Amino acid sequence: MNYHVLTLFPEMILEGMNTSIIGRAMAKGLLTLEAVNIRDYSVTGNGRIDDYPYGGGAGMVMQAEPVYRAYLSLTEKIGYVPRVVYLTPQGKVFNQEIAGELAQEKDLVFLCGHYEGIDERVLEAVATDFLSIGDYVLTGGELPAMVVMDAVSRMVPGVLSNQESGQYESFQDGLLEYPQYSRPEEWRGRKVPPVLLSGHHGNVACWRREQSLLRTLRVRPELLREAELDRKDLRYLEGLAQDPEMVLEKEKREFLIKLLAMKKKA
Ligand code: SAM
Repeated sequence: MNYHVLTLFPEMILEGMNTSIIGRAMAKGLLTLEAVNIRDYSVTGNGRIDDYPYGGGAGMVMQAEPVYRAYLSLTEKIGYVPRVVYLTPQGKVFNQEIAGELAQEKDLVFLCGHYEGIDERVLEAVATDFLSIGDYVLTGGELPAMVVMDAVSRMVPGVLSNQESGQYESFQDGLLEYPQYSRPEEWRGRKVPPVLLSGHHGNVACWRREQSLLRTLRVRPELLREAELDRKDLRYLEGLAQDPEMVLEKEKREFLIKLLAMKKKA
């Protein structure tokens, strides 16, 4: 996977990405990263790349031409028209599924805005995808680009030392992950659930699946609507809905009852 980032702050991208797992993957050549400074393509020649917005209003807008020239310099080098992701709070909200889809590409270009954003005309000309990392506004697209690159990189074969650890994580099967524990067996009076010490793989897998379902129900119940649930899962959830001992808020219990009715019909 080759990442190309069009940015006003190349050092932020290069320094931010060159650590830990991603840094190691770059050293191994599994990922490459270049940051192109849009300022180098200023039309005024003095590094200026922004101007006042037509129609008035606060802030400055990044001009179309420097962004376009920076983009052309990249596409000429790459040799084909790659996918160009513009990071914007107005985009589709990024998720694990999109990460998996982007991981199939050979090259990915990320376009980072600043100030009030980028002249719409160049976005029309070059952007193929518009992605947001959530419903809040940041000062620039660099952190969102790094968030997307990090999540995509984990899905590039060989980046994670053990591919399994990428397979059984939150969102991978539409559910949140089960709780994790490490040594010691008892920490400040809190014990590791005994089933995890039993050595019985079947029971461990069953406990983990149930914990995943329970945690998803408690924290992100809406995910259960789309999650693939088998008969065993439904039986467990039914048990939860009927269990008087189960500490579930009233709305969660009602949600669960409706969900089970919907899943049974399907
Ligand atoms: N005026 C723009 C608007 O209201 O949509 C916001 C511009 S924001 C201050 C500057 C830049 O930060 C954007 O061009 C975009 O690249 C980036 N950005 C800010 N928030 C973001 C988010 N939630 N997701 C992705 N990119 C974001």
